[in-house]
Parts: sequence; C-alpha cells; structure tokens
Amino acid sequence: MYHKAHEVIKETKEKNCRISDVVLQNESKLTERSAEEIREKVREVLRVMQDAAQSGIDKETKSVSGLIGGNAVKTDQFRKTKQTVCGDVVNRAIARALSSSEVNASMGRIAAMPTAGAAGIVPAAVITAAETINADENAMIDALLTASGVGQLIKKNATISGAEGGCQAECGAGAAMAAAAIVELYGGTPEMAFDAAAIAIKSILGLVCDPVAGLVEVPCSKRNATGVVNAMACADMALAGITSVIPFDEVVDAMYKIGKSLPAALRETSLGGLATTPTGETIRCRLMKGDKDTLF
Ligand code: SF4
Repeated sequence: MYHKAHEVIKETKEKNCRISDVVLQNESKLTERSAEEIREKVREVLRVMQDAAQSGIDKETKSVSGLIGGNAVKTDQFRKTKQTVCGDVVNRAIARALSSSEVNASMGRIAAMPTAGAAGIVPAAVITAAETINADENAMIDALLTASGVGQLIKKNATISGAEGGCQAECGAGAAMAAAAIVELYGGTPEMAFDAAAIAIKSILGLVCDPVAGLVEVPCSKRNATGVVNAMACADMALAGITSVIPFDEVVDAMYKIGKSLPAALRETSLGGLATTPTGETIRCRLMKGDKDTLF
C-alpha cells in the first residue's frame, strides 16, 4: 500500500516495474480480485471513455441547458479543413476532451475519472497518445492504471473535489493523471511520469471553481480542452528530461493548502468568479426563467 509518490517510485525501482504494475498489484490486494479481473474492469471503463470521446465529434451534442454543445464537432472540422496552430495531434485531443464534456453535460454516459466535470482530460490524452504511436488496447489499460494511481495519491493527500479545492483539484488532477499516463505510454520512467504530473498541477495551481449558473458546463468544458493540452505539454517536457523542481508530493500538498485557503465563493458555489460576471448572472437568470432561446 502506498501513500506518496516517492513510495511508488521506490517500489518500481525495487521490482523493476512500471507505475501501472504497482497500481495493479495494489488494487488486486485491496479488492481480492485477480489482475486479469481488474484489467477487464478497466477495459470496460476504456470503452465508455472511447464512446464519450467520439460521440460528440460524430454528432453535435447539446447540453441539457443548451448553454454548451457542438464545440467538439467544430474543432474536428477545423483540424480537418484548415491550417491549425497547434497541429493535428493536439486538435484531435482537444476535440475528444470537448466531446466527453459535452456528453457529460447532455447527461450522457462518461467515465468520471477523476470527476464528471474533468472527465474529458484523461480519455482524450490516453486515446490520442495511443493513436499517435499505434499503441494497443492493453497499453491503454496500463496507461489508465497509471492515471488512476496518480489520482489515488492526489485524493489521499489532497482532494479531487472542486467544492473542496477549486478547479485546480479537478482539472488539475485530471491533467496530472493524464500527463503521467502519457509518459508511461511513451516509455518514460516513473520519475518522469511524476515530474509530468507535478508540472501539470503546478501549471494550474490556484484555479478556482466558478461554474456559471451552477452547471458543469461553463467554463468546465473548455477547461477540459486546455487540461489535455496542459497534460500533453507536461508529458513532452518530462520525456525531454525536464524535471519538476518541486516534487510531486510537495506540489499536491501545496495544491491542498491553496484549495483550503480559497474562499467558499470560489469553490463550486457559483457565488464568485465567472459565475457572477454580468454575462454569468444574465445566463443564470435566463435559465432560471426557463428562457433557453435567448441565451446568446
Ligand atoms: S469549474 Fe468547478 S465544476 Fe467546472 S470542472 Fe472546474 S471544478 Fe469542476
């Protein structure tokens, strides 16, 4: 049983294995299930992720409120027909992250990893990174195990809840999990994976949770898109040999302290930030009156 990233790294060294192996062994011990049973469960989760990451691209998916929807289709069309700034791989990932969050906001089926609000980041990262190097389903399952191990550490030592720690805890955790997963998928070391995860959280430290009208739509959906780009950039930095000056465990502690010091208005109450901008208030009032047609 591990509680800190440095313990996971130590175990990977002792056993000459990857983070995903440590996570799988730990999960097997805790649940008294075989490694194969656990991998099958993760395979099912992967299938849900793949569907959610694609269905919003195949078909415009509007949220129940009508506030968001169709941005995954737009991104995919854009990357197919125009010269993008970030290139095809990044735009594929953005489209997938938007798709999952649009599916979530439409009350569709998603895998809440780490949460429903941040459910677009890990799938977009793992599916896109695997596609880029032609990695198979088993490699994607390993990547998801690594992501879940990083998420467990954040949950144990801090929080993955926007209500407790702000969006840094939700989209930050998602980006950290995704960054570590990509690094392992690309053959990086466990140290590199945790460096990528640490840099991902550091890049989003202090981000508040301020959903407009109390809905997990604005700014959440687009934060999933930028979350996966954050994860990809951090994975590349770590694979290039860039380390995090502040170790992962200390970054997580800092994130928790920052979350605790955020005022309640900026922790999912919709009493501050973007939620109380003039436009945010107008949207809230119109939705309360059931006036969807004049939102924009
Ligand atoms: S803004 Fe709040 S509700 Fe939206 S994704 Fe971030 S933490 Fe979740």
